[in-house]
Amino acid sequence: MNANKTSNKSTLSQYYEIDNSIYQRFDAKNHMIYRPFWDKTLPTYRQMFFTNIEKHIKSKKGGYTRFDFAFVKAGWTVYEKFPFAFAWEGEKIQTINEYGTNWTKSKYIIENPNEFTQKIKKVAKFYGASLVGITDIDEKWIYNTGLKVKALSKIEMERNGINSTKKDDTFSKQPISLPKGINKAIVMAIEMNSDGIATAPAQPSSASSAIAYSKMAFSIACVGEFIRNLGYRAIQCGNDTALSIPLAIDAGLGALGRSGLLITPEYGPRVRICKVFTDLPLKSDKPNSKFIKKINKICRDCYKCADACENGAITKDREPSFKGESSSNNPGIKKYYVNVEKCFEFWVKNSGDCGNCIAVCLFSKINKSITPSEFWNKI
Ligand code: SF4
Ligand code: SF4
Repeated sequence: MNANKTSNKSTLSQYYEIDNSIYQRFDAKNHMIYRPFWDKTLPTYRQMFFTNIEKHIKSKKGGYTRFDFAFVKAGWTVYEKFPFAFAWEGEKIQTINEYGTNWTKSKYIIENPNEFTQKIKKVAKFYGASLVGITDIDEKWIYNTGLKVKALSKIEMERNGINSTKKDDTFSKQPISLPKGINKAIVMAIEMNSDGIATAPAQPSSASSAIAYSKMAFSIACVGEFIRNLGYRAIQCGNDTALSIPLAIDAGLGALGRSGLLITPEYGPRVRICKVFTDLPLKSDKPNSKFIKKINKICRDCYKCADACENGAITKDREPSFKGESSSNNPGIKKYYVNVEKCFEFWVKNSGDCGNCIAVCLFSKINKSITPSEFWNKI
C-alpha cells in the first residue's frame, strides 16, 4: 500500500479503501494481548491463557491434559527465552576474532539488486520462512507508540519485543521511529502445522501456533544477523513495532480475510508473520491484486469462519465497513472488523489461542477436523 493510494476522503485503491480522516497509526498498548494488563473495563482484566489451565488439566478432557499443555508451553521456548530475536541491532562490540573478520567494517557490494533480492529471499527461506516478500515500509503500519509496562512479566515483554530497563509502575508510551535509511521490510510467513490446527480449539492447535512463534524468533534472528554481516542494518520484529498483516499484503504474500487474518494462496490463514526492517537496497514485490480481489469476493459470501467462532467474534455482515468494534481495532480501513475482546474471552476460557477460524477456512487446505487423540495417534 502506498501513501499516494489514499486521500482524506474514502478512496478506492486497488488494494484497500482507507479513510484518512479516521485512520491513525495504532498504539500498541491497545493490542488485545496487552489490554487485559491495564483495561479494567474488560471481563478478562488481569486474565491470561494460564488462568484456567489447572481446571482444564483436572477435567482430563482429551486435548487439554497436562501432556497437551506441556506440549504447548515447550513450543514457546525459543520465542520466550531468546530476547535477541527481537533486537534492533547486533552486539555492540565485535572483535576481529569473531568468525575471522570485522563484519561491520564495510558494506558488501551489491552489483545486481534483482539477483541480490532473490538471494535474500533464498536466505530467509533457508533460515525457516515458508513465504517471503519484500515491501517499501509504509509509515501508516508502524505503531504510533510502543509500550513499556512493568505490569507485564519479563516473558510477556520479551515476547512482544519490549525492551525496558526503567522501573515504572505505569504504562508509558515510547514513540516508534525507525532509524533514517531503514525503508524496506522483509516479510516472512511461517506455516503452522496442519494436523495441529485441525484439532482446533484443542491444545495441539495452540502448540502449532507456539512453535510457529519460536520459528519466527529463530528465522528473524538469523536473517537480521546475516544482513549485519553484510554491513547493513536490520531490525528484527515479531508482532511488535508494526502491523504485520498490511506489511505482508504490501509484500505480495496474500489478502485480508473476513477472519481478520492474512490469507495466503499457499497456506491460507495457517501462518504466523514476522518481519525484518532493513536499509538493504532490495527490490520490492507488488501486492497480489488478483488474489486480493478473489478473497474480497469469496469472503463476502463465505461465513465459515464466522460460523465456526464459538464466541461470535467474527462478523456476519455481508459488506465490510470502516468502523471498528473496540479500541483494539484500528478504524478507517474498509474491512471486516473482528471483535477481538470476544475472541480473547474465548482464548482465556480455552487456555489457548483457539484456531477454529483458521481450521475451517478453505484456503488452509484442511479437509476435516481431527480429534486430539487422532492427532496423537497419527504417525
Ligand atoms: S481465534 Fe477462535 S475465538 Fe478468535 S475469532 Fe477465531 S474462531 Fe473466534
Ligand atoms: S472462512 Fe471463508 S469468509 Fe472466512 S476468511 Fe476463509 S474464505 Fe473468508
